[in-house]
Amino acid sequence: MPAELFHQSIADLSAQLSAGSLSAVELTKAVLARTRAVEPSVHAFNSCDEADALAQAAASDARRAAGQAAGPLEGIPIGLKDVIAVKDQPLTASSKMLANFVSPYDATVTTKLRRAGAVIWGRLNCDEFAMGSSTENSAFGPTCNPWDVTRVPGGSSGGSSAALAAGEAIATLGSDTGGSIRQPAAFCGVVGIKPSYGLISRYGLIAYASSLDQIGPFTRTVEDAAIVLGAIAGHDERDSTSFKAEIPDYRAELGRRRGPWRLGIPKEYFGEGLDPEIGAAVEKAIAFYKAQGCEIREVSLPHTQYCLDTYYIIATAEASSNLARYDGIRYGHRSKNAKDIVDLYFQSRAEGFGAEVKRRIILGTYVLSSGYYDAYYLRAQKVRTLIRRDFLNAYREVDALITPTSPIPAFKIGEKSDPLAMYLCDIYTIGVNLAGLPGISVPCGFTASGLPIGLQLIGQPFQEANLLSIARAYERAHDWNSKHPKL
Ligand code: GLN
Repeated sequence: MPAELFHQSIADLSAQLSAGSLSAVELTKAVLARTRAVEPSVHAFNSCDEADALAQAAASDARRAAGQAAGPLEGIPIGLKDVIAVKDQPLTASSKMLANFVSPYDATVTTKLRRAGAVIWGRLNCDEFAMGSSTENSAFGPTCNPWDVTRVPGGSSGGSSAALAAGEAIATLGSDTGGSIRQPAAFCGVVGIKPSYGLISRYGLIAYASSLDQIGPFTRTVEDAAIVLGAIAGHDERDSTSFKAEIPDYRAELGRRRGPWRLGIPKEYFGEGLDPEIGAAVEKAIAFYKAQGCEIREVSLPHTQYCLDTYYIIATAEASSNLARYDGIRYGHRSKNAKDIVDLYFQSRAEGFGAEVKRRIILGTYVLSSGYYDAYYLRAQKVRTLIRRDFLNAYREVDALITPTSPIPAFKIGEKSDPLAMYLCDIYTIGVNLAGLPGISVPCGFTASGLPIGLQLIGQPFQEANLLSIARAYERAHDWNSKHPKL
């Protein structure tokens, strides 16, 4: 029996749309109905605009009927993390600070999705200002993992991963500063790719840590990831950090690049703290690649032990600077209790930001302050260079690296109350951001209790086509993505 419409891939749905056996309005209605049915138990959305989605779908059908060229995203409902600007829709970053903010413009990725014909659908929950690993830091309440609603969906893009796993969108976008696409993808059993730093424009993305942030897709299959990535990648003169790279046809390349590849196993990623069920699933994936004729080599990334410290210095430093703009004057929450202008800054920020965001701003201000700048921030920048060099050295011998995405499966809501315990969830993902590399998480099985496990593949800079092909080779031979959570 074919899967319900809302569980199908972009590739399958676009074939039906092209054949005329399905309309964008029908598909969008199926997604809206599904969202109504499951949203009370998942809470993936901060807001959604059904009328707007249906109008976009009708416009898509009209374009198709008029014979306009229709790409694979024509008529496909795609949800966006609530840190990506959509004109005339709320943009909250899951913060009280922006609770009433409506975006006056589209992010570049939004514009590109619109041009590709996608139906922009819903504002998805996340940790406040993308700071967190569980979506519990949202000012609007946590999102639940569709595989077990007592557990977190990962974070910070937990609304994006949960909505997709639950069938509330056909694909979604998230952002990844230290793992926020890959880790929630792993927790929810979907594909998530963090592209190379600079591949995708950050114009219209609410900034957390600008030297680390990247937007990327969540999809059901690697082929779908290739489709969405191709639609949103490319240089943008509105983001000076976006790179002038040639964008290949990622989907077409999937069929052309067949390996065998040389794959590295970084020994530092298989140590203490790794859940044995996850370790076993990843070992099986490695055995699969070996059986396919890939050369498997152990490699070393000797500075891995410094990744967490380096990340939490650089990310918080940049966050403290980026979040200085929320001053209660220009936009966002403004306190009604202020006595004078200085008090207005204090009160607005005290009332508008949640605890984790405040912690990061304080930490970041500290590491940037005179006297500590050299000891912390400057030193962290130097260590960052060493971390990047570790990866580039490994890439002299191998084409990509294989690791677990997360050391643990989805944990219970409320289980990790200690911030450090939460930060430790990111140990396998943050090095990739510090080094500016592309990384993808693909489903690689389930724990005995039925929680999804993610396999991380890390590629060479701007070699997304290779990375996707390597991931696709694994996906082809496994059918993890045919399973859906029972809601
Ligand atoms: N969990 C990490 C953090 O809290 C990563 C978040 C992200 O990638 N946006 O900073």
